[in-house]
Amino acid sequence: MSGKKYIYAFEEGDGKNKMLLGGKGANLCEMTQIGLNVPPGFTITTEACLAYLEKNQLPEGLMDEIRNSMQALEKKTGKGFGSGENPLLVSVRSGSAMSMPGMMDTILNLGLNELSLPGLIRQTGNERFAYDAYRRFIQLFGKIALGISDEHFDERMAAIKRKYGAPLDVDLTAAHLKALAEEFLAIVERHSGKPFPQDPYEQLEISVGAVFRSWSGKRAVDYRKQFRITKDQADGTAVNVCTMVFGNMGNDSGTGVGFTRNPGTGENLIYGEYLTNAQGEDVVAGIRTPKPIAEMADEMPDIYNQLMELHNRLESHYHEVQDFEFTIEKGTLYCLQTRNGKMNARAMVRTSVEMFHEGLISKERALLRTEPAMLEQLLVPQLSPDFHGKSLAQGLPASPGAASGKIVFDADSAEIRGRAGEKIILVREETKPEDIHGFFQAQGILTSRGGKTSHAAVVARGMGKPCVSGCEQIVINDKLRSAQIGETTLHEGDIITIDGGTGHVYAGEVPTVEAEFSGEMSTLLAWADEVARLKVLANADTPEAAAKARGFGAMGIGLCRTERMFNGTDRLPIVQEMILAETPEQRQAALDRLLPIQRSDFKGIFKAMKGLPVTVRLLDPPMHEFLPTAAQLELEIAHLHQLRDTIKGLEELPDTLKLLNPKLYQQYSDGLLKLMGGLHTFKESHLEEDVISKKETILKKVRALAEVNPMLGHRGVRLGITYPEIYTMQIQAILEAAALCAKEGVEIYPEIMVPQVATVEELKRIHSYVQRIHKVVELTHGINVKFKFGSMLEVVRACVRAGRMAETAEFFSFGTNDLTQAVFSFSREDAENKFLPAYNETGILQDNPFEVLDIKGVGQLMKMGVERGRQTNPDLKVGICGEHGGHPGSIHFCHHIGLSYVSCSGPRVPIARLAAAQAKLLEGEYQDPS
Ligand code: PEP
Ligand code: MG
Repeated sequence: MSGKKYIYAFEEGDGKNKMLLGGKGANLCEMTQIGLNVPPGFTITTEACLAYLEKNQLPEGLMDEIRNSMQALEKKTGKGFGSGENPLLVSVRSGSAMSMPGMMDTILNLGLNELSLPGLIRQTGNERFAYDAYRRFIQLFGKIALGISDEHFDERMAAIKRKYGAPLDVDLTAAHLKALAEEFLAIVERHSGKPFPQDPYEQLEISVGAVFRSWSGKRAVDYRKQFRITKDQADGTAVNVCTMVFGNMGNDSGTGVGFTRNPGTGENLIYGEYLTNAQGEDVVAGIRTPKPIAEMADEMPDIYNQLMELHNRLESHYHEVQDFEFTIEKGTLYCLQTRNGKMNARAMVRTSVEMFHEGLISKERALLRTEPAMLEQLLVPQLSPDFHGKSLAQGLPASPGAASGKIVFDADSAEIRGRAGEKIILVREETKPEDIHGFFQAQGILTSRGGKTSHAAVVARGMGKPCVSGCEQIVINDKLRSAQIGETTLHEGDIITIDGGTGHVYAGEVPTVEAEFSGEMSTLLAWADEVARLKVLANADTPEAAAKARGFGAMGIGLCRTERMFNGTDRLPIVQEMILAETPEQRQAALDRLLPIQRSDFKGIFKAMKGLPVTVRLLDPPMHEFLPTAAQLELEIAHLHQLRDTIKGLEELPDTLKLLNPKLYQQYSDGLLKLMGGLHTFKESHLEEDVISKKETILKKVRALAEVNPMLGHRGVRLGITYPEIYTMQIQAILEAAALCAKEGVEIYPEIMVPQVATVEELKRIHSYVQRIHKVVELTHGINVKFKFGSMLEVVRACVRAGRMAETAEFFSFGTNDLTQAVFSFSREDAENKFLPAYNETGILQDNPFEVLDIKGVGQLMKMGVERGRQTNPDLKVGICGEHGGHPGSIHFCHHIGLSYVSCSGPRVPIARLAAAQAKLLEGEYQDPS
C-alpha cells in the first residue's frame, strides 16, 4: 500500500473540493451530506487518475481500496456485486473539476453478467428490459473500456431488426435482445482477443482505467485547448462509482425530472414530469408520455411527500431554484442529480423577490442572481412562445421586441398610413435622419443594410421600437414597390412580422405577447435603486418618450437630442429654409418660426419629467443632414428636365397634326383639347416655373456644405459659433420653456449641454450667449429660472483639457459614441459594415467597441476626464450618454471611475438600474481590465 487515500465515499468527500473529486463527485458528496437520498457510491480522485497516467497502470493499492469500497456499498444496499439473487449494479462516470460535456464517458449497469442477469430479470419482472440493459452494457463497455468501434455493434443491431422486421429498437422483443446480447459478446471476444469479462471486479478495473485514459484522449485534449482549460482549473478526471437504481421495478417505482419552482413563471410549486414503472431512457425514447408532477399527489402520495421534502432540503441548502433528476425504486425516492435551474427572466425576477420574502436569500443575492440583460425579455413584446414557424430571412437583432404590420417602403407613406391607424413596418435599404417621421408611425423597422448601430438601429432603440437591420437577403425594389427574399416577392401592404431580439423576419402576422412590468419587477428595481450609487437617466427626445422612460424608472433625461425635433414633418421645411437662407434676416425669420415649436417641445418634456433633471443638447449634426443628398437631387433634376421635354413635345402635338393631317386633327380635336387641359393642370401643380431652379439652388447649397469627413466637420459647437442665431434660438426656447413651467408651478431642473466641444474657449463663447439670454428671459418673464450649463466630453482634446473645461461647465457627459470613433479613428458605420466582423472573428477585437465600452482606450480618457474635472470642481456632476450607458459591463466601469449617472435609451433603463446596483454590490471584486 502506498498509504495514499484515493477513494472517498459520498458520505466523507469534501463537497467543495472539485479539484480532487471533480464537479460531479463533489456534488454527489454534498448532496449525500445534506441528507438527500442519493444512491450510495464513492469517488476515485483525480490524483489517482494522474498517478495512472504517469505509469500507465492503476496506482498501487487502488484496487484494494475499490474492493473495500464495493464491499461497503454491498453492506449499505443489501445487494451483492455480481450476485444472482439481488445484484448490485453500478454506473461508472468520469467528472473533472471543469464541466467538459464533450468527453463525459458513462458506463451503466456495470456488474451484469451471466449470473446477475437472471437476478435483474427477477427483480424487475421484465426480461426484455434486462436483456436490453445487458446488450447496452456490453456495447458501452466494448466501446469505452476496450475501444471497439460502435459500428460493429450497430451493424448487428440493424441486421437483427431487418431479420425480424422490426423498424424501431422498441419493436424488438426479449428474445431478439437476448440473441443480440450474445452476438455482442462474440464481437467483444473477436475484437479484444479475450472473452467478455464475467468477473465484475475485472469489469470495474478495466473501466476505471479506461475513464482515466480518456482524460488524455484526443477529444478531451482538444476540448481543453478550445475552451482554454488550464491545469489550475482541472487536472485529471475523477471516477464516480454509483449504485444503479431502477425505476422500472413495478408500480411503486418510476423516474422523472423536476424544478423546485416553475422555470417559466417562477411560481413556487414543484414543476416537472414523471413516469411510473419506467427508466430514464423511456422518457428520452418518447415511448410513453410523462405525466405532470402534480398528478403524483393522487397517484403516489407518499412519494409526493418525499418529493416535497426533497424540494425543501434542496432550496434551503442551495438557496437557489434547483433542477433535479430523480428515480423511485420500490417506494423510495432517490435524487440522482441537482444543479441551479435555468429560468427565463420572468421567473428569475419573481423568484428573487419571493425567495427574499421567504428568508431563503438576502436582498443582495436577490439583486445579484439575475443577469441584467435578461430583463430585456420583459420590457418589449415577444413572439408568442407557442409559435414555431419558419422565418423568411434573418438580419441583425438591432432593437429588441416583435412587431407585425404592413410593409411600407418610404417614410412619407409610413406616416400617412400610420396616422390613418394602420399597423406598418417601415422597410428600407437603410434609413436617414429625414426618415424620422416614418419611425414615429411605424410598429417596427427593417433594413437590408447597416449594422447594429446604424441610424435605423440607434433611433429604433431610442424609441423602444423593434428593428432588424442588415437583412441582406432582402432585395428592395423601390420602383416596383416590392422586395424579394429568395423566391418570395413581398409587395407594399403585405403583412410581415419582425423579431428584433433574434433578427428573424416572418411572412404574415405572428401572434405576440405584450411586455409586462410586473409588481415583482418594480420591487426588485426599487431595491436596486436603494443600493446603487449611480443614477440612471434616459436618452429621450419627445414628451412621449420621456413619459415612457419615466415609466421604466428613469431618474431624469441625460440626453435630449434636439435634432430629432428638427426632423419632424412640420419642422423640416422651416429648418431647410433656415439653411438655405441667403441673408441673416431670412435665417432669423425661419428661426423665429422654429422658436415656438421648440419651446413647446421643451415644455412638454420638462412637464413629463417634472421634479427631475432634463439635459437638452444644443444642435449637433452638420447642416447637410437636413437636406436631401446631392445624388438624390441630381436624379430629381434630371427627371424634371426629362418630364419638361416630354410635355413640350406633347404640347406641340396638335399643331404638328393640324399641319400634317388636318382631317385627323378634326377627328380628334376634342380629345386633344382635353389632353392639353390635363397637361396644363399637371404642369401647374408639378412643374411650376421655378421648381427646377429651386432644386438647383438646394443642390448648390448641398455641394457647398459637402464635407470630406462630416463626422469631423462643421457640426456641434462649431455650428453654434459660426451660426450663433441657431444656438441662440435654442437656448431661448429652453429657458423660456423653463420660465413658463416655473410660472405654472412645475418643478423643473433644466440643463443646457454643448456638443463636440474641444476647447475651453468654445465653451466660454456659448456660455456667454446663455448668460445673456438668461438675463433677458428672467426679466421678461419676471421669474427666477435655475439651470445648469455643461459640456459633452466626446472629443479627445476635451478629455485632456477637462480641468479647464470644469471652470465653465457645471457638468460633463461622456459621448462615448463619438469618443469611440475618435479613439479608434474609424467610423461606426464603416467599421460595422466592413471590417469589424472580421476583427471580432479573428480576435483582434473581442467585442464591438460601439456596444461594449473599450475600457483600455476610451475608458482611460474617461478616467482622465473625471479626475481632471474633479480636481477643478470636486462636486462636478459627470455622466455618460453614449450607447454604452445601457450596457451592464460598461456600467460597472462607470461606477468604478466615479461617474454620477448613466443615461441610456428608455427600455434599457431597468437593465441599467439593476446593473448599477450590481456594480455597487460587487465593487470590492471589480478588476479594472486596463
Ligand atoms: C455620443 O457621441 O456618444 C452621443 C451621445 O452623441 P450622438 O450619438 O448623438 O453623436
Ligand atoms: Mg456625439
